[in-house]
Amino acid sequence: MSAQTMEFKTEVKQLLDLMIHSLYSHKEIFLRELISNASDAIDKARYESLTNQALLEGGGDWKIELIADKEAGTLTIRDNGIGLTRDEAITALGTIAHSGTKEFMKALQSKEVKENPELIGQFGVGFYSSFMVADKVSVRSRKAGAANDQGIVWESSADGSYTIDTITKETRGTDVILYMKEEEKNLLDQWELRRIVRKYSDYIEHAICMEIDNYDDKGEKDGTKEDILNSRKAIWLKDKSEITAEEYKEFYKHVSHDFTDPAETIHYRAEGTNEFSALLYIPSRAPFDLFYKEYKIGPTLYVKRVQIMEHCEALMPVYLRFVKGVVDSSDLPLNVSREILQNNRMIEVIKKNITKRVLDALSHMKQNDFDKYLAFYKEFGKVLKEGIHYDATRKEAIAELLLFESSKTAAGEFTNLSDYVTNMPSDQNEIYYITGESRGEVASSPYLEAFRDKGYEVLFMYDEIDDYIITNLGEFKGKKFKSVIKGDIALDKDKEEQKKEAEKKYKLLIDLLKDRLKDDVGEVRLSGRLKDSACCLVAGETDMDPQMEKLLKSMGQEVPDTKRILELNSEHPVVAKMNALFEENKENPILGEYAEMLYDQALIMEGSKPKDPSRFAQRISRLMAGA
Ligand code: ADP
Ligand code: MG
Repeated sequence: MSAQTMEFKTEVKQLLDLMIHSLYSHKEIFLRELISNASDAIDKARYESLTNQALLEGGGDWKIELIADKEAGTLTIRDNGIGLTRDEAITALGTIAHSGTKEFMKALQSKEVKENPELIGQFGVGFYSSFMVADKVSVRSRKAGAANDQGIVWESSADGSYTIDTITKETRGTDVILYMKEEEKNLLDQWELRRIVRKYSDYIEHAICMEIDNYDDKGEKDGTKEDILNSRKAIWLKDKSEITAEEYKEFYKHVSHDFTDPAETIHYRAEGTNEFSALLYIPSRAPFDLFYKEYKIGPTLYVKRVQIMEHCEALMPVYLRFVKGVVDSSDLPLNVSREILQNNRMIEVIKKNITKRVLDALSHMKQNDFDKYLAFYKEFGKVLKEGIHYDATRKEAIAELLLFESSKTAAGEFTNLSDYVTNMPSDQNEIYYITGESRGEVASSPYLEAFRDKGYEVLFMYDEIDDYIITNLGEFKGKKFKSVIKGDIALDKDKEEQKKEAEKKYKLLIDLLKDRLKDDVGEVRLSGRLKDSACCLVAGETDMDPQMEKLLKSMGQEVPDTKRILELNSEHPVVAKMNALFEENKENPILGEYAEMLYDQALIMEGSKPKDPSRFAQRISRLMAGA
């Protein structure tokens, strides 16, 4: 087949542009990315050869070679790993193999990425980083196990297109040949290459080899010899004391594709009947696809240093899906499959252990470095709280980690459930909370009036799932949760008598309102939660939280329409005035108008629009003119 010229997908063009111009200060990382790809390719070949010896083609001496040719101005990164077929090269190198391509495009244009270009690292820009240092890149590859004449060559100068052709290649694996830019030729220096490998790729398990100058006894140059540039020690198997903070960070960037430093590193070895090492990281920034279905969960699983799979879902609960890292088990069989992993007792034990360690680390962070914890919580709190739904055994532990603003905190300051319960006045029996879109919306809500008056704190919750999560949690330290926007509220036991009397007094007025508003509200009653406002709308005790309702509707789910309850403040002059009008003349047409105006007011107070805004405005104007 002759050479074929193909266009890059548009997002690749944009990525190349952005990267070449803005990631430039990080340009050394091209080598880390290419070595990491070579290492991945070897891991895959080694894993597949466990069940298919033929792939070894007679040799299983895995290695990565760097070949610097100063005369030609090229640097070759060679591996004897799994290799690429023609189709694989087209998809892997001609597109961005990423689930959230649309998100990615958005991110490329965003102000955040323009100001912090290293953020695009999280999209796995890997291979394309070669174009930061090379004018042209040529990839020569042959799939392990394929015939020699089934090799391919892929070539591009990052000008919007690439070519692909068939070649004969004697050895399996891939050569990535970089035609270095004039101003980057210093990277061909062997000491420079050694330095970069040490800095970024020292932990790579496979040997990274290079021909280096050889010196004889007298210190004179005598040909070349092959040297291994990396120490090859799997970082997670090393002793903590042997690892520098820098090395931990570099390894994080390798496993996570993140360019920012991690917030927390958790490294330990579990001894006993089930031995494993874990090196886990809590990132400092949420990746863009954290809430996508395609988001890949779980650490990389190794068995005795052999990589088994990149994302082992069975090892990590979904609510800790932001955690990255590596788990290396000494006891699992090498040939474990995904199916086996799903129901493996040993995996289950490791997962439990990891979960506990991560939650402990978070709890420790919250206690000892609150600012750091707060930063973490803002990025990942929404994911963490899913744990209350998913993990019944750790509900309380996770609940301890939640943070909330409240009616007693300033904006941007937080309380937590333990402190809340400790600070409860002795006559308060429940934990009160209000859901809404933002502090602005809930802080001035009429629903809080009576609670403020009593000195009771109300927790503010802004995530759509909060009501669901809290309902699921049910109680904390023996105190039940109660939404202040749902159900009946009776804060004062001694006012019961008074309320009964008011109910008798206003019975007929309430009946009239029920009748007038029967299309809009399911019930009209006197309120136990109002102080200064005349009325408000509330949901029934078991009704769906309005935030949740919005969320479900936005996801296109059908939500049954439940009518709300209109509550009146029996101590408000408006109610007394209406009642007086009513007693004077039960047929007074103004009563109907007032009923609708009460309802409209209640709508406005919960952040909705009046039913008919222009009619509402006309009525107000008429009232004002009358006054
Ligand atoms: P990532 O490594 O995150 O998948 P890259 O841009 O680094 O992203 O690489 C893209 C894809 O190209 C890889 O997933 C792999 O399929 C393929 N690839 C790159 N380098 C090699 C190689 N040396 N051998 C085999 N496949 C490779
Ligand atoms: Mg890569």
